[in-house]
Amino acid sequence: FNVPTPVNEPVLQYAPGSKERALLTDALAQARATETTIPMYIGAAEVTTDKKVSMHPPHDHKHCLGYYYQGNKQHVQQAIDAALTAKESWENLAWEQRAAIFLKAADLIAGKYRYQLNAATMLCQSKNAYQAEIDAACELIDFLRFNVKYMSEIYSQQPPVSGPGTWNRVEQRPLEGFVFALTPFNFTAIAGNLPACVAMMGNVVVWKPANTQIYSAALIMKILKEAGLPDGVINLVYVSGTDAGDVIFQHPDFAGIHFTGSTGVFQNIWQTIGNNISKYKTYPRIVGETGGKDFILVHPSADIKLTNTAFVRGAFEYQGQKCSAASRGYVPASLWPALKELLVADLASLKMGGVEEYGNFINAVIDEKSFDKIASYINNAKNDAQAEIIAGGNYSKEKGYFIEPTVIVTTNPNYTTMCEEIFGPVLTLYIYNDEEFDHILKVVDSTSGYALTGAFIAQDRYAIDKASHALRNAAGNFYINDKPTGAVVGQQPFGGARASGTNDKAGSMINLLRWVSPRTIKETF
Ligand code: GLU
Repeated sequence: FNVPTPVNEPVLQYAPGSKERALLTDALAQARATETTIPMYIGAAEVTTDKKVSMHPPHDHKHCLGYYYQGNKQHVQQAIDAALTAKESWENLAWEQRAAIFLKAADLIAGKYRYQLNAATMLCQSKNAYQAEIDAACELIDFLRFNVKYMSEIYSQQPPVSGPGTWNRVEQRPLEGFVFALTPFNFTAIAGNLPACVAMMGNVVVWKPANTQIYSAALIMKILKEAGLPDGVINLVYVSGTDAGDVIFQHPDFAGIHFTGSTGVFQNIWQTIGNNISKYKTYPRIVGETGGKDFILVHPSADIKLTNTAFVRGAFEYQGQKCSAASRGYVPASLWPALKELLVADLASLKMGGVEEYGNFINAVIDEKSFDKIASYINNAKNDAQAEIIAGGNYSKEKGYFIEPTVIVTTNPNYTTMCEEIFGPVLTLYIYNDEEFDHILKVVDSTSGYALTGAFIAQDRYAIDKASHALRNAAGNFYINDKPTGAVVGQQPFGGARASGTNDKAGSMINLLRWVSPRTIKETF
């Protein structure tokens, strides 16, 4: 193989007085001082429209980051045309030439653009410096570098056996058509990776980011172009879901979708694709990472400090807006009093506010719709005898969309907030009798239809083996004695099954193989 295994990008710590903190502070100030207007990128064109939409940091309504140009169905059609025009020359490049573009993009993010992309992510998605660093810098760089490595392995696979007089081989072709990348607000790395890893395999892409992530998405696009990505290989459009869907899912050249977002949207898309299936030249690849209702199950043998850290970080980092975030917990009665004390004290000490102050652990949730939904779950809990709020519970959208890290304790293991995805800083706990551990394993497995991540905290080796087996289908990423978030590319391939997705593990060869269509060739001499 001619691509060495990469080393994960080291995480900068932004300690007070450090050079990196000064550089990030400068980048933040510069971003705040500049009102950018962001075009769509279709083929070689930077496309503007007569509809400008303003962008604001979720933690600071008053500040305007700039504007993006809202497109419509026509732009989606243009993006498909541009993609199909770029297709032939892109897929005819040697894979090493394609690889070099993405490796260069990784280097540009690691160096020249690191602070600018982090600052964009902080302001646009309300992530603190650390959360931005592990996402927009490290995870995106890792996705690009590790996927290039996996790509090189796919193109260097051992050929099949050939008998005398024949030569059998397998050619990994790009898909026949274009791919739609529909990306979420919560990770700049995912937004960049979904179109990039598809393009890497020789495909052309129409990319629609979440409206709330356009500010940082456009910067990724700029970086990819600077790295040498030819015009039309990835086309970035800002349109409504309906405008995108109406054009894309009717198109005969639609060859696949790479999706991260909600389960409901994914199921609708799947249905639409099914309804149109006879229109397409080829069965489209459907790859999606969707919701989660991720658990932390605590065994009576668990270390309490470790358990507390798993809850605080697993449930509340980035305001719980990770698909992987812990949102339901099961705690044995014997450990609860001590754990409760630690948890309540720790949560009370967390600072909440804008991203520009480095000490703020909690920032704002992404938008008003999300804020209102989360607040309504909290309100319902306030008025329900089955639920008690033991931490947080307050919220305000005056300056930004701020919600305190909130812990609900319920007497009902099937209480709404134990089952439904909230996507915010709300953790619900059920306290079980220590003797009921075997029963609780069944409850954990059957309570939500999701199966993305889960954590088991225990010192007892026998219990670890038992839970690991009993919960084998309850999570695609299972963490023993750790929080259920923070999968690292190259270390913990990420994804889940059931209502959580197609489990095509982000940042792995499994995922990249979905973006090629093998052709077997038998040649007889
Ligand atoms: N891979 C991320 C993690 O482990 C979560 C991805 C997501 O939220 O979609 O924290």
